[in-house]
Amino acid sequence: MNGNHSNLLRDSYGRTVRYVRMSVTDRCNLRCLYCASPFRQEFIPHDNILRYEEMSRMVAILAGMGVQKLRLTGGEPFARKGCDQFLLMLRQQFPSMDLRLTSNGTLLEPYIPLLRRVGLGAVNLSLDSFDRATFARVTGYDLLPRVLATLDALLSACIRVKINVVALHGVNDTQMPDFIHAVRTMPVDVRFIEFMPMGIGTAWNQKTFWPVDEILAEARRHAHLIPVTERRNEAGPARMYRVEGGKGRLGCITALSCHFCADCNRLRLTSNGHIRACLFDDREYRLRGLLRRSKFRDADIARILRLACARKPIGAELLRQRTEGNAVAQKSMMGIGG
Ligand code: SAM
Repeated sequence: MNGNHSNLLRDSYGRTVRYVRMSVTDRCNLRCLYCASPFRQEFIPHDNILRYEEMSRMVAILAGMGVQKLRLTGGEPFARKGCDQFLLMLRQQFPSMDLRLTSNGTLLEPYIPLLRRVGLGAVNLSLDSFDRATFARVTGYDLLPRVLATLDALLSACIRVKINVVALHGVNDTQMPDFIHAVRTMPVDVRFIEFMPMGIGTAWNQKTFWPVDEILAEARRHAHLIPVTERRNEAGPARMYRVEGGKGRLGCITALSCHFCADCNRLRLTSNGHIRACLFDDREYRLRGLLRRSKFRDADIARILRLACARKPIGAELLRQRTEGNAVAQKSMMGIGG
């Protein structure tokens, strides 16, 4: 399943795609201010969403081209019916795939025994504040107790948890003591993600942007941070730190201040079957039609995947153009999957 050498998905910068983020739905039960569009949301019609069988065919093709890690995301993955059975199906069909999940944690708790059975590499839990009022302000819903119960249940089930915190000036920048407390007391990675300007009408601006230097300075006011050196293939985009005496770790994902495009090894598959080679590149490659017409073979799909990969850009340049007000990265994260 690792793909033979000639079949690997390599791009024109010498990067190899090993990781796919697959959005199972564009629907979400929350309205996070950094993610959802402020305009009326048009959801993708049901018929245009890939069926689970189509998604799993895509995974088979990608696995044959060297993809080793698969993340289900959304929207909210568990907002789509049958997501639990889909995970099981993936595990049965791809026993050695590193399967992961990104979730807001509000619908997850009943499925934790199944997640344990499936053997996920980790669950990334979006949790932007441990303060109930701030959580409700960010997500639009007063559901912090439910997410905290899910976090406890995941840890009790010995499932690895990474907490994603979108760093927001004027929102959660005064709450570092809560995050440090989490790192001290729980075996979790708390990762601050720099707020990225994605989608038309994004709330991103110089006032809401909390840059990594300031995040780390604030963290150092509350704890002594010890840098962690990770093996290259485990590092991912986050720079991680230990906190003296802590069970967990704290880190930052810095798409804007210090990009990690040189090591990017990912492709994205949207829920309607489009390949997006780079988060910030609005060019998408439509595969749904090919998946649905019998005259197209896996080899035809593989050809498009190779094309998308060959054209994969250095996204940081696009992101810079976006921060200067140019019309790039026009799709909201909810539609892409983060
Ligand atoms: N609903 C799930 C969740 O909340 O985790 C999965 C989808 S969400 C789009 C995936 C990730 O994207 C979340 O961790 C979220 O924090 C991140 N995200 C969304 N919009 C973002 C933005 N504008 N800047 C940085 N991170 C963002």
